[in-house]
Amino acid sequence: MRDPRYDVLFEPVPIGPVTARNRFYQVPHCAGMGYRFPMSNAALRGMKAEGGWAVVCTEEAEIHHSAEITPYVENRIWDAQDLPHLKALTEAVHARGSLAGIELVHNGHHSPNHYSREVPLGPSHRIVDSGDPVQARAMDKTDIANLRRWHRNAALRAKEAGFDIVYVYAGHDMALLQHFLSRRHNDRCDEYGGSLENRARLIKEILIDTKEAVGDRCAVAFRFAVDELLGEEGISAEGEAHDVVALLAELPDLWDVSLSGWANDSQTARFSEEGFQEPYTRFVKSLTSKPVVGVGRYTSPDAMVRVVKQGHLDLIGAARPSIADPFLPKKIEEGRIDDIRECIGCNICVTGDNFAAPIRCTQNPTMGEEWRRGWHPEVIPAVEQRERVLIVGGGPAGLEAARACGQRGLEVVLAEAGEDWGGRVARECRLPGLASWARVRDWRLGQLHKLPNVEMYLASALTAGEILSYGIAHVALATGATWRRDGIGRSRHAPVPGLGAGALLTPDDVVADGFDAAALPDGPVVVYDDEGYLMGGLMAEVLAKAGRAVTYVTPAPLVSAWTQYALDQPRIHRRLAECCVTIRLNSVLTGRTATRVDLACAFTEAPETLACATLVLVTARLPNESLTLDLRRREADWPDAGLETLQTLGDARAPGTIAAAVFAGHRYAREFGEMVDPDVAPFKREAIAVG
Ligand code: ADP
Ligand code: SF4
Repeated sequence: MRDPRYDVLFEPVPIGPVTARNRFYQVPHCAGMGYRFPMSNAALRGMKAEGGWAVVCTEEAEIHHSAEITPYVENRIWDAQDLPHLKALTEAVHARGSLAGIELVHNGHHSPNHYSREVPLGPSHRIVDSGDPVQARAMDKTDIANLRRWHRNAALRAKEAGFDIVYVYAGHDMALLQHFLSRRHNDRCDEYGGSLENRARLIKEILIDTKEAVGDRCAVAFRFAVDELLGEEGISAEGEAHDVVALLAELPDLWDVSLSGWANDSQTARFSEEGFQEPYTRFVKSLTSKPVVGVGRYTSPDAMVRVVKQGHLDLIGAARPSIADPFLPKKIEEGRIDDIRECIGCNICVTGDNFAAPIRCTQNPTMGEEWRRGWHPEVIPAVEQRERVLIVGGGPAGLEAARACGQRGLEVVLAEAGEDWGGRVARECRLPGLASWARVRDWRLGQLHKLPNVEMYLASALTAGEILSYGIAHVALATGATWRRDGIGRSRHAPVPGLGAGALLTPDDVVADGFDAAALPDGPVVVYDDEGYLMGGLMAEVLAKAGRAVTYVTPAPLVSAWTQYALDQPRIHRRLAECCVTIRLNSVLTGRTATRVDLACAFTEAPETLACATLVLVTARLPNESLTLDLRRREADWPDAGLETLQTLGDARAPGTIAAAVFAGHRYAREFGEMVDPDVAPFKREAIAVG
């Protein structure tokens, strides 16, 4: 039963000629699928509709071949060839009673056009922002007329494909229309440059064109970045954004407002709270009578009700919360608030898009697998035979394996050596900004406690002998991993000499209960990061905040280099600078004495030294595989012990992301009892049409 407090979230909202059945709105978001994996995309979007999102949008859809961003895989609506794929998507969304939206885009000087080899276009002569040695040329009047025709024709094609909401897009610093609006990108002297009214002229013309073309049946949404967080140099909520909304107030049927660029819009939980965009977007509704949608990683229905009741938003926009839980609206509707699988704000979903690979999610292991593996986020077929399974290790992999096996109806025993559930997330969630990572544990524990067929034991460090004595036929080992203490990582493939000459720590020591930075020897701390994801930067931050003089050293050219794919690398660098951490890039650790570390330039091998009393090694991890190896050694005992299958999951098999561990646990449950042929890919592939 729905809590009446949340009734307001289920009111219909008219948007121009269409009506959203409730206030849950999946704003356009990338999925790494687009034109290359259209059936996967259709199934993903259809699942959101099934989960109760009244509006489900595509990722951006390029309107023309002069605006393509290969190697990224977005959508395309260049011509009729794209329509069957897009129709599959709208049909999947309509079949579940939702509206389908499409974000039309010309990427302007964001498009290097690697595939089409067209010269990029922009309001002014500018180098493209992709890092390529390619320039966009300033558009002349013919180009502007062409652009308007391309956009109009794309809108007509979108209508033909069945879309209900057609976007005009000026967001994320990725859209030509935003480039026209921007003082820093637009130095034209004609009627499309100079005053704000001139810079907004093209947007106005295209909004009018789009309404004329498709406005009889489709709503026209305007996606507008209200703040670029660039101060004077950019659009800001307190500056020109206000005038833009006032100027165009009643033209679109819907205002979709957010921050720009993408790294500001999709900030990780480390740097932002739920509702973090409110201070920027709040003003919009005071200037328009049209509905407004905005985002802010909303997962709490109370926060959603608040923003609606305060008159800040009409529609609760979501990308990441809808990825982590496609059934979030349904769960609120059915009064199942505890079942909501809340986004943790880690941006692993974003990394998929940045690698042009189908999306994945830390919290939702079925994300991206709807079509190719046929996985439903809420449903797993029950097993035919109710067998017993022992899962060893209560980290992300073990918890998810136990939960999903329990959901399938197996008799599950889950044993954890420690005093707490959660494995690595129980420890890592204490690091600065990672509190929400505990949701990986908490959601699974909440679900496990509802399953009568799951027994759970803490403080149970199992040995091979004990496991064999239980007579359980199926055993999964999810025993995790341990940070290396030998210096082997990305750059070094042999142990670093002399590491034990002074105090030596790994992240396992720093996140352990009872760690006291004040107890470390006097003198400088060196954090050596040869892994490149979050942990190195976090170690430097923790120790600097504990008052230690810290130097962060990495062989990479960037601090926490891999986090650039999760969009927060610049913020991490800035955070270390704010904490007065000294940063030394392109430096490989080669040796150590009691008072210093030896380094070598990653390019020239030129030697250097650095004073060091405590060295924190963040290089790589080793799987905790002793239990696996012990059981394998005793394979001859298995038949008498009744052990039939043994699998090692997650970090214990090969250390990776939390997302990979959750996926491994989930996959174990899905494939339980199946004969898996290692020679055959365990998923369908999208056929590529020839000719
Ligand atoms: P993953 O990310 O793969 O789930 P974690 O390191 O987060 O890995 O979790 C592994 C968990 O397994 C830890 O909580 C650890 O205490 C537990 N564990 C390791 N060895 C054993 C064992 N022999 N018996 C029970 N639990 C174990
Ligand atoms: Fe949220 Fe992380 Fe999932 Fe993205 S990958 S939706 S940020 S939990």
